[in-house]
Amino acid sequence: MAEELDLDCVIVGGGVVGLAVARELAMNGREVVLLEAEPMTGSVTSARNSEVIHAGLYYATGSLKAKLCVAGKHRLYEYCRERNIPHRACGKLVVASSEQELRYLEKLSSQAEANGVEDCYLIDAVELSVREPQIRGFAALVSPSTGIIDSHSLMQAYITDIEANGGAIVCNSPVIEGEFAEGKIRLSVGGRDPVVIQARLVVNAAGLNAWTVSERLLGLNVNTIPSRHYAKGCYFALTGRAPAKQLIYPVPEPGGLGVHLTLDLAGQARFGPDVEWVDAIDYDVDASRAQGFYSAIRRYWPDLADGALQPAYSGIRPKIAGPDAGGGGDFVIQGPEQTGHPGYVALYGIESPGLTASLAIGQKVARLAK
Ligand SMILES: Cc1cc2nc3c(=O)[nH]c(=O)nc-3n(C[C@H](O)[C@H](O)[C@H](O)COP(=O)(O)OP(=O)(O)OC[C@H]3O[C@@H](n4cnc5c(N)ncnc54)[C@H](O)[C@@H]3O)c2cc1C
Repeated sequence: MAEELDLDCVIVGGGVVGLAVARELAMNGREVVLLEAEPMTGSVTSARNSEVIHAGLYYATGSLKAKLCVAGKHRLYEYCRERNIPHRACGKLVVASSEQELRYLEKLSSQAEANGVEDCYLIDAVELSVREPQIRGFAALVSPSTGIIDSHSLMQAYITDIEANGGAIVCNSPVIEGEFAEGKIRLSVGGRDPVVIQARLVVNAAGLNAWTVSERLLGLNVNTIPSRHYAKGCYFALTGRAPAKQLIYPVPEPGGLGVHLTLDLAGQARFGPDVEWVDAIDYDVDASRAQGFYSAIRRYWPDLADGALQPAYSGIRPKIAGPDAGGGGDFVIQGPEQTGHPGYVALYGIESPGLTASLAIGQKVARLAK
């Protein structure tokens, strides 16, 4: 028979968001145990992204994405400085390839300002070619507060904070199912040593699997669970030198930000992610998608040589809105009032900018859980 444990807070999922939530709760004096299904934390979506610190330009003003991205970005830069986490505020250029796209940049600039991002400005084609001689465009929006970060060092710092504040992280521990019982939540945890846990607070931060975790909680009103959609994004690495010193984005496409140029902290360039709506989780990168990449990238970097792109990796965006709804959709963070249970907090659709927003999401969840 499985052992039964009585705990205060259980976080389901050890990606960057679950870790940030566990860190915040542990620092608030709560007893925290984080359960991770995989053999290590941070190995799913948190290991399959662009590692960009987003400024907060794109998201609808007043949305959770806009608020938590801007607040999270400021906290993240501060935290990186305090903890010596490798990062660089390298800036980014959103490039318009036509006069029509310039109209979009003007709207984006106003939206950024309304979101509290006050450092963006437009430059013309001449200024663009002075700043980035290999990049072509009609105009560009400059975002100086966009940056890049070593996300694994960030997650390691969160783990250090969790453990320093008495929290525990247990890997190889998938939550299989659960039920609401006498003001608590009982969870059955699988793995090598199955266990049953009773917790006063459960935070579902299971990323792509958050919907399934909620569906398997007996007693949860299923109408509280939003719809689930997955949008895969593939990356291709560039052989040779990066064509720019900062990040280069086109104007966004439905479901994603467009095939952009990101740099890692060593200055190596990769392109992506594109958007492919999928039903199942599969991280293979189909080499034939390169064709779409060459044409998308040559709109802003005409000199990209044939054969310079190599398949790299992919990630899958958990989304609450599918292609029929334009592929947008906000983060969904349900506190006890929305889940209908005093001890259950559920997070759905934590796609980009979840990495940037992670510290702010942690704070929001801790407030909801009080
Ligand atoms: C292609 C792509 C590019 C992105 N680029 C950026 C970017 O540049 N900047 C940015 O800010 N954000 C970006 N994001 C978003 C960011 O990566 C995510 O928001 C963030 O990683 C989500 O973290 P998470 O902890 O919610 O999910 P995850 O990292 O997926 O973690 C969830 C964890 O839950 C575990 N789990 C699942 N089921 C169970 C269970 N039953 N029991 C126990 N554990 C379970 C999983 O194993 C996993 O480790 C991008 C996302 C994608 C897909």
